[in-house]
Amino acid sequence: MEAPRSLYVHVPFCPQVCPYCDFHKMRRHEPLVAGYLERLEREAGALAARYPGPLDTVYLGGGTPSHLDDAELGRVLAALRAHWGGLGARETTLEADPGTFDATRAGGWRAAGITRLSIGLQSTQDHVLRFLGRSHRGAQALQSVRDARSAGLQVSVDVITAVPGQDARADLEAAASSGAQHVSVYTLTVEPHTPFAQRGVRIDDERAADDFDLAEAVLAAHGLRRYEVSNHARPGFESRHNLVYWRGDGWLALGPSAAGFEPRAPSDPAAVLAVRTRNPPIKTWLRGEAPERTPVDGPTLALELLMTGLRTREGVDLARLRERTGVDVPARFPRALSLARRHDLLVEDGALLRATPAGTRVLNAVLRPFFDEAAG
Ligand code: SF4
Repeated sequence: MEAPRSLYVHVPFCPQVCPYCDFHKMRRHEPLVAGYLERLEREAGALAARYPGPLDTVYLGGGTPSHLDDAELGRVLAALRAHWGGLGARETTLEADPGTFDATRAGGWRAAGITRLSIGLQSTQDHVLRFLGRSHRGAQALQSVRDARSAGLQVSVDVITAVPGQDARADLEAAASSGAQHVSVYTLTVEPHTPFAQRGVRIDDERAADDFDLAEAVLAAHGLRRYEVSNHARPGFESRHNLVYWRGDGWLALGPSAAGFEPRAPSDPAAVLAVRTRNPPIKTWLRGEAPERTPVDGPTLALELLMTGLRTREGVDLARLRERTGVDVPARFPRALSLARRHDLLVEDGALLRATPAGTRVLNAVLRPFFDEAAG
């Protein structure tokens, strides 16, 4: 596998802590931000010494990276430039929340080398935003898309569906006609240990399934095609960085709790094809603790490539998977494959294996027999 040319940078600070969120995040306070920036600069130097790039894609996610002020964000970008010689040659995305920027600030980001904003729109309905614990309002969310577009940035917006009391169609229509070229749609989930879980918030599964289908129909009618389970784009505006994840290509990780996927180091035993890395949470990360490293062998990588590749419309290239992992999918998983084919959940098109629209709706159930068969 080639050395990674993509980089994920985790910025954990948020203006508020949302009750459904289980990401690694926290409210900012000044000494913590100062420590974060210093440590990030050092970590970038160490990582770039092993993987000098150049970088194709960079993704600054969080948390809320736009909650850093311009000087702080400038330091992050300067560290990437200093150690990798530039930002992403093909794409540099910044996650930004409505209410944290205006057209002038967006113009500054564009001038600083950001090419794409991923805006946490979530909903355009004020009562839904209040329920989600978000501090922005619907009109502000739509204005933020206009501001970003007028600054010359590509724009993706996130929408959350299956929220109690939400008119999902209205939110999807608003997102589709907002000017964004890319829309990510997520079903609200209630993760353990979040305030929503403690309050006993429940998601209606039938409603969630209906909203999933509604998203495809509404967005497609506006020219945004579903190209991954949760992602829809106008042609040519698919997220290049996220395609790296779904294709199982390598990427580097910077920042507390950030996860990376590195191809095999020459010193690793031959059975190890790659290493998953996970940085520690902020307290130990600030002290310089090394990431946790999990070796990935061929059979594990094969399952992971099926799991992520089948999420995409392009599907999984079985010949490439065999080359990379040594696993011949039809020979290794005959029962799982025939079950999925029989129920019209997977189709083969030459060397490509894809989920059908019905399979995409129940992807976890499609994948389970592969895991069962792998376990013997
Ligand atoms: S802004 Fe995003 S990362 Fe921060 S708490 Fe809310 S959902 Fe989580």
